[in-house]
Amino acid sequence: MSKDKVVAGKVQKRSESTELTPLMVQYQSIKDEYRNEVLFFRLGDFYEMFNEDALEISRLLNLTLTHRAQHPMCGIPYHAAKIYIARLLRLGKKIAICEQVGEIGKGKTIAERKVIEIITPGTAIESEYLEGGVNNYLACCSVKKNEVGFAYIDVTTADFYATSWSKKEMADNFAKELGRSNPRELLLPETLRGDKTIEEIIAQNSNIAVSYYPEWNFDSSLSYKRLNKQFGTQNLRSFNLTEESAEVGPAGFLLDYLMRTTSTNAPHVSGIKVYRDCEYVVMDDSSRRNLEITANLRDGSFQYSLLECVSHTQTAMGKRLLVNWLNYPLTDAQKIASRQEHIALFVNNRRLLDAIRQNFSSVLDIERLAARVAMERAHAKDLQALKSSLSVWLKIRVLIANYDFSVLPADEAKQIIELIDSAILEDPATSITEGRIIKSGWSKELDHWRDIQCNFNKILEEYAEEEKSKTGISNLRIKNNNNAGYYIEVTKGKLQQIPEHFIMRRSLLNAERYTTARLQELEHELNEAGTKIVQLERDLFVEIRSQIAKLVPYLLQTSREIAYTDVSSALAYSAVLHGWIRPVVDDSTVFEVENGRHPVVEMHLPAGEFVPNDLSICSPQDFSEKCSTSFSLITGPNMAGKSTFLRQNALIALLAQTGSFVPASSAHIGIVDRIFCRVGASDNLARGESTFLVEMTETANILRSATEKSLVIMDEVGRGTSTEDGLSIAWAISEYLLNTIKCKTLFATHYHELTRMNHSALKLLCMAVAENSGDVVFLRKIKEGASENSYGLHVAKLAGVPQSVVLRAEEILAHLQKSAGEKPVLPSEIKTEISGEKEKSHFSQNLPGLFSDEEMVLDEILSVDPENMTPLQALELVARWKKSLSGR
Ligand code: ADP
Repeated sequence: MSKDKVVAGKVQKRSESTELTPLMVQYQSIKDEYRNEVLFFRLGDFYEMFNEDALEISRLLNLTLTHRAQHPMCGIPYHAAKIYIARLLRLGKKIAICEQVGEIGKGKTIAERKVIEIITPGTAIESEYLEGGVNNYLACCSVKKNEVGFAYIDVTTADFYATSWSKKEMADNFAKELGRSNPRELLLPETLRGDKTIEEIIAQNSNIAVSYYPEWNFDSSLSYKRLNKQFGTQNLRSFNLTEESAEVGPAGFLLDYLMRTTSTNAPHVSGIKVYRDCEYVVMDDSSRRNLEITANLRDGSFQYSLLECVSHTQTAMGKRLLVNWLNYPLTDAQKIASRQEHIALFVNNRRLLDAIRQNFSSVLDIERLAARVAMERAHAKDLQALKSSLSVWLKIRVLIANYDFSVLPADEAKQIIELIDSAILEDPATSITEGRIIKSGWSKELDHWRDIQCNFNKILEEYAEEEKSKTGISNLRIKNNNNAGYYIEVTKGKLQQIPEHFIMRRSLLNAERYTTARLQELEHELNEAGTKIVQLERDLFVEIRSQIAKLVPYLLQTSREIAYTDVSSALAYSAVLHGWIRPVVDDSTVFEVENGRHPVVEMHLPAGEFVPNDLSICSPQDFSEKCSTSFSLITGPNMAGKSTFLRQNALIALLAQTGSFVPASSAHIGIVDRIFCRVGASDNLARGESTFLVEMTETANILRSATEKSLVIMDEVGRGTSTEDGLSIAWAISEYLLNTIKCKTLFATHYHELTRMNHSALKLLCMAVAENSGDVVFLRKIKEGASENSYGLHVAKLAGVPQSVVLRAEEILAHLQKSAGEKPVLPSEIKTEISGEKEKSHFSQNLPGLFSDEEMVLDEILSVDPENMTPLQALELVARWKKSLSGR
């Protein structure tokens, strides 16, 4: 091994040799087969990486880079490998583990090595590589004629889904499915390599490990056979699939890939759920992101997302299901009602709710434990975890026995608990090759060997006593030493009593040493005992595990019942905690909410500060005296609460259709088929497109796909272009939504001209603002009518725009307002009137909507978020406030 050590990827000195050593020849030939993986090459107690792998991984993991011969090398200790593998998986890397599989034999200079396992982000099974409450999906997408098939599987839970769409909808649907399934790894056919749209979408979903495979891997007829073999079926009709279905190719390849990497055929994967868009509320990728359902827009974390408000599940299974419910809201009124029923049971019985939640807190991930059992990866501690979790679940079942949360029989669970309880030690080893697994009393043979190992002296004493009484040699002793092993020592005086079965070993001055067939047998057993015990414990454990493996389908179903009950209780807890109510959900197009609130904004404001708002709209088919508008046009100054109002209504619809209660005092929600949320002008720099182009692409998608049953939320559409263009586009879009699509629409705009639009289905709403002796107060209350002022300058000042700029803007505004209708004057032609303190105070006093300096500072203090500020920013703020106040 070279000693040229360097840190951070820089090589200081190189070895002189240029010829490949036998070891490097072996390495290279293996590496050639695993070009897409980082090759962990076992050398003694280390996994070593060479060449490009070493250069890249030393940088990623901050490892010391050394050299072997001329080859860059870095290594990690074998016993700590899991920590490093977990980090590499998070970075989207695949790892091939190469072990020594033979000894150095005759004529060989090195031992044989081969890759025994490939660990990839989407196929990892060990709990160290997984995130508890998050599905670990491996996805695959391929094109068949004019159809695109998309499938994804979590081998750790047996969740297996597939869907398809027409090729011309590739971009939107690929982004949508990738966004909500959020896979760790994606397999694509070579033919899609270099596809710009696909690559852009992938780039937006960080850290997905993508690999491309030749087209034949996605072949339908091979995949069809593979799927039938896996599910033990003759055809796939029960899964709504034929050999021609676009889903078959990618689904079959997923199984194939799993087999290649994990070396198991994942026997617990026994079916696939094929779904269509109509089963769930359709949300395109940008709408899903804009609504901040599972992650916020700012940093992509779970904080400030809808998930955060309802994240009260206690089990990992529940957490995964909760995310699924939020990502796939239902469109079937009956299914929604059934979920509501279950949630209501807990809301109406707080004591039961508390008891359930407390019990669930000690239920571990039975779903993943079952999958590990099926794939022969579970160790004895896993079985203990299974036992204790099932026992708690049986207790919970008693608590909810009067309701239909669990329909499975309890017998199998009891059987598993009993088996583990009688066979497995309470605190067993995590390895199955070191013993310390099986309880005494489980196997006579194991008990025998343990007896030999633990009570050998006692056994010898009993044997000595036996020989004493048989021979009458009362002072014979059984002794041992390192050279001779065990022997019977008889003093010279008793030699005439030596029986025939004593075999002479050695004669000493005063005594003689003998052995017997029995003593030799006992000694042999003692020497064997250690190995025998380990071997037997392993075999017995494997036998017990395979008995439990037969019940894996039962365990997976149990996990589903647990997850469902946990999510129902979590949503009930959220409803109680946040004061939510049960909405009426039906097949109408009505959307009637009283005192609606934004769940996330409300949660982060001090109690009672959120101002609730009503909304009543519906599509023309449900127009009545009470409600005869489908379109609400909302105007109001910036910061008045328009976006919050828009989003809160979309979130209320979404929550209602997951079956959850909603933040309102009453709600009647007609089931929506799609939710579109075009909010803000988020610039898509990654795609290299302008804000306006993105805005129009998304708008085009809405106009193309919205139906009368959809809910459309549009915020400031047209903002990305010139005023005239923007206004005309916003106007035309509004007309199209009103006249052609007739869906429920909330449209927020700063184009006051839009309020001149005249349509019977249009309602004007605005955010109430109070002006009181120069102060502007946002009341956050929605009211009928159009807003009169945009208070832009007030907001600019609030945001810390330099005072001189704000004052200059006031000046220009005043001038523009005065000369409205006349020939436009360029701002540069408007003379600055502010030359000193006098003028400044004059302006402050005379223009409505402005605060005094003290109030401005106070306002700013109240609106800053100290937790998200650097110390430097805080210092700058304080300095500015000081300047602003002392400059009075
Ligand atoms: P706009 O879209 O009109 O610019 P936002 O919806 O972004 O305004 O709201 C501005 C701020 O006002 C938000 O940060 C939010 O905290 C607060 N806010 C909005 N609506 C309410 C409300 N109903 N009650 C209390 N605070 C609100």
